[in-house]
Amino acid sequence: MGSRITGALLDALAVLSPVDCAGCGSPDRALCEACQLELEPAVTPRSLPDGATVFTALRYEGVVRRTLLALKESGRTDVARPLSASLSAALDRAAQPGAEFLAVPTSKAAWRRRGYDPVALLCKRAGYEPARVLRSSRATQTQKTLGLDDRVLNLHESMRSRVPLRGRRFILVDDIVTTGATLSEAARAVRAAGGEVVGHAALAFTPRLFGSSQSLLGSSQSIP
Ligand SMILES: [Zn+2]
Repeated sequence: MGSRITGALLDALAVLSPVDCAGCGSPDRALCEACQLELEPAVTPRSLPDGATVFTALRYEGVVRRTLLALKESGRTDVARPLSASLSAALDRAAQPGAEFLAVPTSKAAWRRRGYDPVALLCKRAGYEPARVLRSSRATQTQKTLGLDDRVLNLHESMRSRVPLRGRRFILVDDIVTTGATLSEAARAVRAAGGEVVGHAALAFTPRLFGSSQSLLGSSQSIP
């Protein structure tokens, strides 16, 4: 389908169900062309505090931040597809033969509030059915205002596997990496159930907290 026809179709749909661009608020599109360009992935390996490597696709700021918040806090599941295209680039880098992608579970409170799991949704839109073996086993505080040590304490033993995982290998997937505390807790829960963690991937990293001193592994590499 030509881009003119696609555009006309999208305009017609916008009349039926008006939306604003999740990235900039301009009318009529779920994500305008300028904002779609901001989601161009630049997959980068980063070191987590425990020494593991996470592949991230985007910086969590500006259009990326607003678009992901629209998905997570405003029910804008229409932006899952463009975001999943970015995540897909990170998943491809982290992929290993025989390993399953595992979507890090959201807290029970977030699930109740949203009615869907953004990370699992992004994995599915990226073409991967994520393993849903972990669950949040107790309530946690929101992480936003906590520092690294408090995040680790807040999350410690907050996840549990539903099934024994012996013999299974996983690549852990999250939406945003800030301090790495959530991925660490998920890895702990997988290992506690006998599984193996062989990689990590995330849609975006928080540049403010994930500064240059922590991104020890090489420079940003664009995926065409
Ligand atoms: Zn826009």
